[in-house]
Amino acid sequence: MTIDVHCHLYAEGFYNESFVGPTAINTELGGTSGWHSLDPDGSGHIQRMNEAGIDRCNILHIDMGVLFGEGALAIEQQNHHISEVVRKHKDQFTWFCGVDPRRKEAAELSEKCISQWGASGIKLYPTTGFLPADKECYPLYEVAVSKQVPVYFHMGPEAPPYKNEGNAHPSGLLRVLVDFSGLTVVVAHLSFEYWRDLITLGKVCDNVMADFCAWQRIAQRSYDQFCHILRRFLDQFGSDRVMFGTDAPLVELAMSSKEWVEMVKRLPHDSPKGVAFSEEEIGALLDGNARRLFATIKQQVD
Ligand SMILES: [Zn+2]
Repeated sequence: MTIDVHCHLYAEGFYNESFVGPTAINTELGGTSGWHSLDPDGSGHIQRMNEAGIDRCNILHIDMGVLFGEGALAIEQQNHHISEVVRKHKDQFTWFCGVDPRRKEAAELSEKCISQWGASGIKLYPTTGFLPADKECYPLYEVAVSKQVPVYFHMGPEAPPYKNEGNAHPSGLLRVLVDFSGLTVVVAHLSFEYWRDLITLGKVCDNVMADFCAWQRIAQRSYDQFCHILRRFLDQFGSDRVMFGTDAPLVELAMSSKEWVEMVKRLPHDSPKGVAFSEEEIGALLDGNARRLFATIKQQVD
């Protein structure tokens, strides 16, 4: 089985025209075309998953309205839209709601997404202008702890207009993890350039997991470097705490999900000198670790 813990679904009205795309990779790929891959009913994802042999995909919703201005659909409607897509394809999709903690209704809406609309967790995007340890975020962590669901953070620097004043540096999560010992945190992208600091965080906090999605570009540019860094993570962060993701549809522009799955599956047979991966480790990345994480999430809705 292969589980993609990190993808996105875009529908008309989610974002307004000033939105420049969810990651710095977009800039690298030469524009804003990535997020325009509108897939309102998820059929694009299902086709992609079938091609790549991905059995399950976790859709992370991102609230960009505070930084870029509101989309035509209110944030509640956006989250509801995703929940409806997931409800229709329960065997293939799970989802995390996206609500900016600076919104007045943030905690209440997150709670509703989890309790009534089946969200498996909360996704936060601090580079839109807040720090994970800001007090506005705390009511959301309280919801996550009480509902026994994880909080998923985008981590890693991004180009302006995103904010890089420590917003997406893993060290900013330490305060949160100390204050909420019962909270499970998932960090996206191995924190990109901050990857060493994520390893450090992982050494002092047990309840942190990570995905290595959107490393396709790095793997393409320098396969050896990708293998060495992934190996460091498995050795020093923990081979039971790292999960596979695609960040589709955006990163599909750099590498298809099919190629990415194949590259990861080939790691035990095709790694640079001095770096080795076992089949068991790759199985854990592609499936076992995500499956264990989801098994801890208390499903609130039948
Ligand atoms: Zn993403």
